[in-house]
Amino acid sequence: MPEQLYLPADRASRLASIRAAFPGLEGPDCPTPGGRAAGLLRLQRVDPVAYDRSRNFLDGAVTGLSPYVRHGCITLGEARAHSLRVVPAQRAWKFIFELAWRDFWRRVWKSLGPAVRKDVERPKVALGQAPLPDDVREGRTGLPCMDATVRQLVDEGYVHNHARMWFASYCVHFRKLSWRSCADWFMGHLIDGDLASNHLSWQWVASTFGAKPYIFNKENVVKYSGNRWCAGCTARCPFDDSYPALSRRLFGEEAT
Ligand SMILES: Cc1cc2nc3c(=O)[nH]c(=O)nc-3n(C[C@H](O)[C@H](O)[C@H](O)COP(=O)(O)OP(=O)(O)OC[C@H]3O[C@@H](n4cnc5c(N)ncnc54)[C@H](O)[C@@H]3O)c2cc1C
Repeated sequence: MPEQLYLPADRASRLASIRAAFPGLEGPDCPTPGGRAAGLLRLQRVDPVAYDRSRNFLDGAVTGLSPYVRHGCITLGEARAHSLRVVPAQRAWKFIFELAWRDFWRRVWKSLGPAVRKDVERPKVALGQAPLPDDVREGRTGLPCMDATVRQLVDEGYVHNHARMWFASYCVHFRKLSWRSCADWFMGHLIDGDLASNHLSWQWVASTFGAKPYIFNKENVVKYSGNRWCAGCTARCPFDDSYPALSRRLFGEEAT
């Protein structure tokens, strides 16, 4: 990304500047072409049954709809209606359930306003307050799974939901960083960046908007990533343990 982008005032020159600065953002190779037509095309490809079966896997049939929903190119109602058109309701429910999360976060935001940037509830475990350090921000932690997530975030502006959860948990619980400082930075790189879904998801991971902290282990990463990182990883893995052992290591007896 260029250090600084000076944008002219008129729309045509502004678009020309953006196109010149980000040549990969248009044309057949662009991973997320903008606009309603592209959003509707993406929606037509949604397969709610395959989604239900595979959505937790990094190579699963996730939809890539979030940038289009976030920027108003398509609505949640249109996404729901599409799924009910192509399969019976009982086979569409998982997809609709996930759309409902987005709706829920938005309603919470509407009710709380700017307070979504602060702890909504008392944390259920002790949380750290350290600001986001450079090794995490620059994808230099030495953990291939976390560094790849940062690279994808920065290069593509998109990360799969499961990888977002792992990364948030790593930052908040394994590194004891301030969820707020991580969430602000993370959202700034997302094409679908949205204060409600992003900050409340970070709070859900942290346990300031949920009953318990979200943690994961190596077995979970191996299974849902198709073992894409762990097979060749030589790092000392902080995630390689059982859940009770991780919980004791991260939170002491309070969360066991
Ligand atoms: C730490 C963290 C940060 C997040 N930040 C954002 C964000 O800034 N903006 C954003 O839109 N989503 C955010 N999410 C939610 C979710 O990760 C993304 O909506 C999803 O990964 C987008 O990819 P997709 O469209 O392929 O999702 P799919 O799995 O194909 O889901 C279909 C649609 O359902 C909705 N959806 C699915 N899962 C969720 C969820 N857990 N929460 C809310 N909506 C969901 C989205 O609109 C999505 O487009 C975050 C999740 C976490 C754990």
